[in-house]
Amino acid sequence: MKYLEEFRDAAATASLADLIARASEKLDEIRLMEVCGTHTMAIARFGLKSIIPDNIKLISGPGCPVCVSPHRYIDASIAYCRRPNTIITTFGDMVRVPGSSSSLEKESAEGADVRVVFSTMDALRTAEENPESDIIFLGVGFETTAPTIAGAVVEAKRKSVDNFAVLCGHKVIPPAMAALAGDPEVKVDGYICPPHVSAIIGSEAYRFLAEDYSKACCVAGFEPLDILQGVLWLVEMIAEGAADVKTQYSRVVGPGGNPEAIQILNEVFEPRDDDWRGVGTIPMSGLGFREVYYNFDAERRWPVEVEKTIFPKGCICGLILMGVASPTDCKLFGKKCTPEHPVGACMVSSEGSCAASYKYSNL
Ligand code: SF4
Repeated sequence: MKYLEEFRDAAATASLADLIARASEKLDEIRLMEVCGTHTMAIARFGLKSIIPDNIKLISGPGCPVCVSPHRYIDASIAYCRRPNTIITTFGDMVRVPGSSSSLEKESAEGADVRVVFSTMDALRTAEENPESDIIFLGVGFETTAPTIAGAVVEAKRKSVDNFAVLCGHKVIPPAMAALAGDPEVKVDGYICPPHVSAIIGSEAYRFLAEDYSKACCVAGFEPLDILQGVLWLVEMIAEGAADVKTQYSRVVGPGGNPEAIQILNEVFEPRDDDWRGVGTIPMSGLGFREVYYNFDAERRWPVEVEKTIFPKGCICGLILMGVASPTDCKLFGKKCTPEHPVGACMVSSEGSCAASYKYSNL
C-alpha cells in the first residue's frame, strides 16, 4: 500500500536499528516513554522492543483515553444510563470498561439505551431524532477529540438542541507529562510525544519539558520507521546531553498546531484539575465547560447519584499508566484479566498497554 509500506521497509528498519545501537553504545540504561496508546500498540505489533538495544527501555505512559478515565467516571456513566428517558452515546471501547459493580455493556443487556457512535455529530443527530429523550455523550479523550466535541456543542447551541449534554471527561496531555517528569519515582529520560494530540496543540507545547525538566522530546509518527527514527533522535539528544523538542512527524505536525481546533476548544472548554485513573488528581489536566455552555454539562444539568467507587482489587492500571510497572507485573494479567474478561480499563481498550501486551506478547 503506497504511503504505508515505505514506512515499514525491512532494510530501512534494520539500518535504523543499527544507527540506534551505535548512538546508544556509551549510554547507561535510558527510559523513553511513549505518550500515546497507538504508539504502544504499534511498538508491540511490530516487535520494536526486540530490535533495539537492551539499554533502551520503551515504557508506556498515560496515552490511552479509555484507560485514563477514572473509575468514578465509569460509575457516573452507568448511573446516567439507569436514569429514566436517557440515551447514552459513546465511542465503542467505553462500553466494556468495568465500573464498580457493572458496565455499560451489562446495563445495555438489561435494557439501558446505550448507543455506540463514530462521532460527536452522530450523538447530536441522535438528540435531534429523539426529542423526547435526554441524550448524553461520554466525552473522553485528549486534545485530539475535544475540538470535535466542542464543535458538536457549538452546533447544538446554534440549533437550540435542548436535550443534548456531555459527561465531561476530557484530559489534556502536557500537564500529565509534567507531573510524570517531576515525579522522582517515574524515571523518564525522553518522551516520544503523541502525534495526534500534537497535530492539534503543536510541538512547541512540549518546549517547557525540555527547558524546565531537561527532557528530550520527539513527536514521532505511528509507523515502525517513524517510531525508530524518533527513538534515534531521542537517543542522540540524550547522548549529547541536549534537551530539545524535535518533530519527526513533520508531514502532519507543525510547531503551532491547528489554530482553528485550538480556538473552538478554548471557546467551549477551560482547564480544570482532573483525576486520572489510578494516578490521582493532576492540576489543570482536564477540561470543563465554560459558563456560557453550562447547559451542555450533563453533571450540572442532570445531576445523578453515583455509587461508591470500588477499584478492582489487584489491578495496577495506575502504576502502568505512570510507567512504573508493566502489564506482566500484574498478578491478574492473562489469568483473571483477559480481553474477553477484562478487570481493568488497560485490558479493554484497543490502545491499552495490557491489551497490547496480551495480544502481541502473550499468545
Ligand atoms: Fe488491570 Fe488487568 Fe492490566 Fe492487571 S492486567 S493492570 S487487572 S487491566
